[in-house]
Parts: sequence; structure tokens; C-alpha cells
Amino acid sequence: MRRVSVFGATGSIGQSTLDLIGRGAYDVVALSGGSNIGQLARDAIRLRADVAVTAFDDKLSDLRDALAGSGVAAAAGKTALEEAADRPADWIMSAIVGAAGLTPGLRALRHGTTLALANKESLVCAGPLLMAEARRHGATILPVDSEHSAVFQTLVGEDMAAVEKVIITGSGGGLRDWPLARLAEATPEQAGKHPNWDMGQRITIDSASMMNKAMELIETKEFFGLPPEMIDTIIHPQSLIHALVQFNDGALMAHLGTPDMRHAIGYALNWPDRGPVPVERLDLAKVAQLDFHAPDPARYPALDLARRVMGQGGLSGAAFNAAKEAALDLFLARAIRFTDMAPLVARVLDQMDADNRLEADTLSLDMVQDTDTRARQIARDLA
Ligand code: NAD
Ligand code: MG
Repeated sequence: MRRVSVFGATGSIGQSTLDLIGRGAYDVVALSGGSNIGQLARDAIRLRADVAVTAFDDKLSDLRDALAGSGVAAAAGKTALEEAADRPADWIMSAIVGAAGLTPGLRALRHGTTLALANKESLVCAGPLLMAEARRHGATILPVDSEHSAVFQTLVGEDMAAVEKVIITGSGGGLRDWPLARLAEATPEQAGKHPNWDMGQRITIDSASMMNKAMELIETKEFFGLPPEMIDTIIHPQSLIHALVQFNDGALMAHLGTPDMRHAIGYALNWPDRGPVPVERLDLAKVAQLDFHAPDPARYPALDLARRVMGQGGLSGAAFNAAKEAALDLFLARAIRFTDMAPLVARVLDQMDADNRLEADTLSLDMVQDTDTRARQIARDLA
């Protein structure tokens, strides 16, 4: 039986992953969560995990109580998360939200495992480090972001030298049709509703600002090793085409499917084979029409930030991700407006650039974490 672990098991991606795991025969090693102890314990008991880990130390006694008599071990805190990633497993889902997902993923790669990577923040803040670690230990990273899974699938059997362009689609988010002048009034509740995808709150707001697409452009560069000028995005309101790859003979290959993350998760779980996944099938006759338009840079300033980060490399991704997370925290706390987020991130990058803090030939975990801490502090100071 394949041994699997799921980090961020109580979240949106985590729950979809457990849904698929629960339908098959897997040996569940570790599940991790945050403060939703009831869910974590129920899933760990139901799936007979060896250990359940909460990220938060002060939740340990609650978790112990919830697991009492079940035979599932309880653990808590950052170190426990890393130790859980050290437990031998054949397949590990990295679905913690935010930069907190980086270290468990890195630890898992050191054991040569297959890492299904939903945590795009790891690639944005430390792409070269993650990819080098995977190479060094013979580990495999499989993309779980829907766009990147789509590109990955489209590239099977293809020669990268024949690729001209990779285009990832974006829905434009929940505020896509709002007049520009009203965007400044948007509340977290309004920005937190997605037209097509059912996702965690943070990524849903990042979709409305297209900060998520900015992250995904950088993710494309880091994962597929492509130069920025070969990577593009287009608004496709229906979210049925997830990505397209253009080849040097003029062929444009698209990946289509209903917006259900269980497709990308299932592809990674079954890889290198395909296996049945219970997602709704796409009925093109019913869909009838697919729409596209270029994103307006005034509405989505995050896309320019992505170009800047892709061009600069070094520690700019770590600074960008941390500043973006800090800006989102401030927006959620109603301390800044929706439209203040991208300019705030730009000012953090400006300041760190002026202080010569973003240049680096090779990345270390310490450098990334130091940049992360500093960028969050600067964002809070500037806000
Ligand atoms: P979510 O908020 O629903 O779940 C996040 C998970 O991380 C939960 O299990 C939570 O307990 C845990 N967590 C939160 N803070 C933590 C911390 N400090 N330390 C350890 N664990 C912590 O998020 P989600 O929407 O499932 O997204 C998870 C990841 O997948 C993100 O990186 C996101 O960008 C990516 N992703 C999500 C979707 C989607 O459809 N939801 C699609 C593509 C990519
Ligand atoms: Mg995506």
C-alpha cells in the first residue's frame, strides 16, 4: 500500500485530497492542520493515520483529548510538523497556506519522496532552492495548482525546446465586473467570493486582486524553468480552460475541465498513470461559448509586480510573497483598502531593493526566512 501524508489536511485542498484518499487503499502516515482540531482528529481517526499534527502548540491538549484511545499519536508545533515530514511516505501533499508550507515541503524532498505541491508560496519564495533540493535527493515535485497541472499534463511527451509560450488562464476574480472606481470600497467579504472555484479565503481574495495569478506566473517560471517572456496570462471568465501551451509549429494545446481541484490532485495522486477521478464531466454543448480577454493592468497591478519579480529573481520572490501576505492580513483587518494592497507590496519591494536586500545568486533557507520577516515588518511599517 502506498504511504501518504497530507499537510494542510483541514483546508480546502486538504479536504479534497482526503476525499480522494478515502476512496482508495492508502496507508495514511501523517495529517496536519491548524486550529480546526475536531476536523483533524475525525479525519485522522477515520483514515487511521499514524500521527495528527496541529501547527499550533497551544492546541496540543485539545488534539490529545480528541484522539484519546484512538491509537493516533498527537503532536503540535513547527518542529513536530517537520518531524512529520521526515516520516517515510511515498507521496506527500503540501497544502498548508502561506510561507509556513515551505519547511515541511523542503524536509519531505530531502527524503526523495514525491511531493504534490499545492503550496505555490514555496515556489514563489524559494523556487530555486526547492527545485535544487528535489534534484539533489532524486525527489519529484508534481504541481497541484490547476493551471500548472494543466501545463504539466500538456507537456507529457513533448520536447521543451519546441515550446514557444505557456499561457495560464485566470477568471479575473469576484470583482471582475465592478467599475474600477468602486474597487477601493470592496470589503473582504465581497472580495472573498469566487465566481467559479470554491477555495480557501486567502487565495479567493488573491484571485480578486489577481495576486494569485501573479504568484502563478512566478510559479510557472520556477517550476518549468521558462524565461518570463514565454509566460503569459489571459482572462477566461468561465475557468474551463486552465492553461494552454503554444508550440513552434503553431499548435496551441489547451487543457479543459470543470473547476474542481480534485482533478489536479487526482492527477498528482495517480501519476505517472491516470486513474478515475469523480469530477463532473465537461459538456461543451451546454457550455456553448468560451470567452477571453487581456487583463487590464490598471485593474490588476499585481501582474506588473509579477513581471518585476520574474525579471529580478534572487530574494524578490520571498519579499513579494511576504509583503503580499502582510498586505492581505492588513486588508482582512480592515486597516487598508483592497486597492492599497498592490501599491503597498510595490513599496516594500522598492525599499528592500534600495537597501540592496533582494540580490542573491543562490538561496538558502535562512536568507529566505530573513527576507520574509523583514518584508512583513516593512509592510506593516509602511501601511
Ligand atoms: P485553506 O486556508 O483552506 O487551508 C490551509 C491549511 O493550512 C489548513 O489545513 C490550515 O490549518 C493550515 N494552516 C494555516 N496556517 C498554518 C500555519 N501557520 N502552519 C501550518 N499550517 C497552517 O487553504 P487552501 O485554499 O486549501 O490552500 C492551500 C494551498 O493550496 C495554498 O498554498 C493555496 O495557494 C494553494 N492552492 C489552493 C487552491 C484551492 O482551490 N483552494 C488551488 C490552487 C492552489
Ligand atoms: Mg491556480
